[in-house]
Amino acid sequence: MVLLCVLACDSREAPVSRAPGTNSAASPKHVVPVSTDVPDATVAPSHRASAEVSMSASASASATEPAPPWGPFIPGVVRRLPHSAEPRIALTFDACGGPGGDGYDDVLIDLLKREKVPATLFLTRRWIIEHPDVAARLAAEPLFELQNHGARHLPCTVRGLRAFGIKGPEDERGARAEIAGGASAIAKLTGTSPRFYRPGTGYFEPACVEVVHASGARPLGFTVAGDAGGSFARARIARAVGEAPPGAIVLLHMNQPNHEIADAVRDALPRLRARRVVLVRLTEAFSFPRKGDSRQVGGKPTFDGNAGRQTE
Ligand SMILES: [Zn+2]
Repeated sequence: MVLLCVLACDSREAPVSRAPGTNSAASPKHVVPVSTDVPDATVAPSHRASAEVSMSASASASATEPAPPWGPFIPGVVRRLPHSAEPRIALTFDACGGPGGDGYDDVLIDLLKREKVPATLFLTRRWIIEHPDVAARLAAEPLFELQNHGARHLPCTVRGLRAFGIKGPEDERGARAEIAGGASAIAKLTGTSPRFYRPGTGYFEPACVEVVHASGARPLGFTVAGDAGGSFARARIARAVGEAPPGAIVLLHMNQPNHEIADAVRDALPRLRARRVVLVRLTEAFSFPRKGDSRQVGGKPTFDGNAGRQTE
């Protein structure tokens, strides 16, 4: 029922032609390149193709016309957690950096810590450069794991495709540099190479998916786009998070402190608890050991008492 609701709700509401990370809806003719992620709503598999075409077309009026597949939902991109007996959901928060994307939502991060909510944070190198002290504290927080959102927040392409006005690398070398630049920034903070790469804008093309695999990381997408870069209203974000289906990877942002994301997550937590959802970080969901973890990965962390630890 929950899944059906999510799909139905979003099939009514998505997609929209809104610039990523902007505060208000924008005309397709006035899409502005910005630095937060764009995916605008949970898009059901049956609606994905049309959504991608619409979103891409609206954002690339002056760009090379991208040939499909090009978007967040192409083959080879991880979009869900592995199957588990318990209802697991991964909350992921992107910090994109750049103009309009350099913020830090300390209220949100404090909420996650206070409520012991484990989360996966995707940081770009440019956001880390803006917030070196914050990034170091996030890396030291056991509740969180840091993953790669790229060096310059570029979409994942090897032929200069654009997503939401942001032009990606023009060749494999450029794609490798974008991925490796973000990965080294994360590794410098954590001492561990990131396992997952989510590009800026969330857009991939198949050749770039291969570049990600060759780097040793997994190309990561999402199941539920929870906040559209912060532009969704509080109730809509809360609904997207609170009703996310089991196995969902929920995409949210931690770089938009002037939006209602923290309030919405606070609103959604009781619903998740009532559903007995187990919130997990990506590496534990995919059974990668984390540096410093001495316990068996894949246990049953909860987010109301022992969220930061793996339990047997
Ligand atoms: Zn982003």
